[in-house]
Amino acid sequence: MREWHTVAPGIHQRRYDPFDISIVVIEGADGVLLVDTRAEPAEGEALSDDVRERFDRPVRWVVNTHAHFDHTFGNQAFGPGTSADASIHGHENIATHFAEHERPRLAAWHADPTREPGRHWDDVRLTPPTHPVGTPTTLDLGGRIVELLPQPPAHTDTDLVVFAPAERVWILGDLVEESGPPMYGSGSFPLQWPGVLAALADAMDPRDLVIPGHGRVVDRGFVARQAGDLQLVADRFRAAHDDGLTAAEALARHHDWPIPLDFLVSGVERAYTQLDQPPAD
Ligand SMILES: [Zn+2]
Repeated sequence: MREWHTVAPGIHQRRYDPFDISIVVIEGADGVLLVDTRAEPAEGEALSDDVRERFDRPVRWVVNTHAHFDHTFGNQAFGPGTSADASIHGHENIATHFAEHERPRLAAWHADPTREPGRHWDDVRLTPPTHPVGTPTTLDLGGRIVELLPQPPAHTDTDLVVFAPAERVWILGDLVEESGPPMYGSGSFPLQWPGVLAALADAMDPRDLVIPGHGRVVDRGFVARQAGDLQLVADRFRAAHDDGLTAAEALARHHDWPIPLDFLVSGVERAYTQLDQPPAD
């Protein structure tokens, strides 16, 4: 699917390459809300053209599901100084996450462009939310309500769920993935993630529709299963750490991981870093 797919009345998903990233448009009376902005400025510009062509209404609101580059590096095509001048809403930690993870990622690429030869990041101006969200917030789009629900640390410390209560549609970003395994990317919280996802599944009805950060629309059962997979992984990481195993030994201990082994390497490293930290108090 590389066209707009109507998930529910007024709510449309389009899956873009690279990364099979989910972009969502939610229609309001006088404008549209856009969820995530693709992976580089030119992709954001192309997205802007696609939205104008299909919906013929201005993008008045942008929401970032989390800070990762493939969801935010198109922000500058919509934010301050552009003709759209949309308000950008995202988790209140995004600016900090940019400083800790995405800015160094950009600096490393500038220092050695051969590291990621497919990326065109020369023009990236990191554009954090103009409206940082720290508590559940309701947006009235004109004839349609959406709720912005910032989450505790999970896939990142910047996850924010978009929920359309009348249509019963949830937009979960990379808290759940369908077309690939869940990713323990930069700044992930492998031990806390499953509990956050399980709580979201508990809040869903069986017929609710769930748009993942990558892939086709899924349902509560899919979300609950992925939460279970992540919980099994977290339990094994914790048990291996308790038993004094190294991170590599923790992975070698089992041969029936629910997530491919190469996706778990960064996850076990993040989990061990967190388990090695002394308690806060
Ligand atoms: Zn992500």
